Amino acid sequence: MLVYIAGSGAMGCTVGYHIQKNTDSEVILLDYWQEHIDNINKNGLEVTGKVEDKIEIVALKPTQASRKADLIVVMTKSMKLDSMMQDVSHLIDENTQVLCLLNGMGHERILKEHVNLDQINMGVTVWAAGINGPGSINISGIGSIDVQNIGGNEEEGKKVADLLEQANLHTKYDSNVMHAIWRKVMVNGTMNSTSALLKCKIGEFFSTNAHKKIVDDLVNEFVEVGNADGIKLDKKEMLDYIYQTSESAKDHYPSMYQDLVKNNKKTEIDFINGAVVEKGKKHNIETPYNDLITQLVHAKEELQKAE
Ligand code: NAD
Repeated sequence: MLVYIAGSGAMGCTVGYHIQKNTDSEVILLDYWQEHIDNINKNGLEVTGKVEDKIEIVALKPTQASRKADLIVVMTKSMKLDSMMQDVSHLIDENTQVLCLLNGMGHERILKEHVNLDQINMGVTVWAAGINGPGSINISGIGSIDVQNIGGNEEEGKKVADLLEQANLHTKYDSNVMHAIWRKVMVNGTMNSTSALLKCKIGEFFSTNAHKKIVDDLVNEFVEVGNADGIKLDKKEMLDYIYQTSESAKDHYPSMYQDLVKNNKKTEIDFINGAVVEKGKKHNIETPYNDLITQLVHAKEELQKAE
């Protein structure tokens, strides 16, 4: 099987590393960061953290690849998904499956512009990784992955899930993946944006008295909009999951903090809190708390001239 990773930053390299290392499939990493590509081709991909290794793997710019893909795992940031799909269109035919593991919601709308619904597999991952520098990643959390083909092509979806499971990525086929996606979005939407705005660790935000009302107000909106959208979400179950995650991640600065505060990059806010605002409009449900958080993050991006 020929697998391309379209967007080979921290998480793309984590997925690519595991498939290349543990299965018979051939993996090609696609990215735009030339120094990263050059280092990987010259010295191999270095993996540190929970896994320590170095492997040979090919890295290319999307335009340099030519063979048709069996599977494309898209792992860009949300804002770059559409342009990446355009840049890999020459690698896709009717037999290609696409797997999307980005954080956030609404990516399937973008993917539908580029491939048929029965070629789209949506997923959610709780693996955690960062970049040490060009050619080197750090896997900070061993996680799991849920996958579902959203066009009803269960056979192909299960093949994708089996490949990732064989790759040691702890993957299962999930016939209700949207529930898992909403649940992860709620985690990101309550702790990433708030910790980024407050410039603090997740545990520090959750230690404040004020966090309770903030989290509760945000979750109320997520649950109401999710249920209107056909996803059965139970508020208590969601809050339990959020609090469990906040405890296990208490010493971490979330990825939105890394993007906005540390690296002065634009965030995925429109696909997290902003996505529930957009979906709320469709169902005539007001979402003032998520709207305010979204606009505050955008204001900070503007003030800092984030790129
Ligand atoms: P990333 O920032 O590591 O990589 C995104 C892109 O930025 C890649 O193309 C990468 O090559 C490029 N990049 C990174 N550092 C660069 C630098 N210094 N100079 C030039 N280019 C650079 O993003 P990620 O963490 O892999 O996230 C991809 C998707 O996965 C996002 O939707 C994210 O929310 C999701 N996700 C990430 C994690 C995680 O722990 N990293 C966990 C779950 C989901």
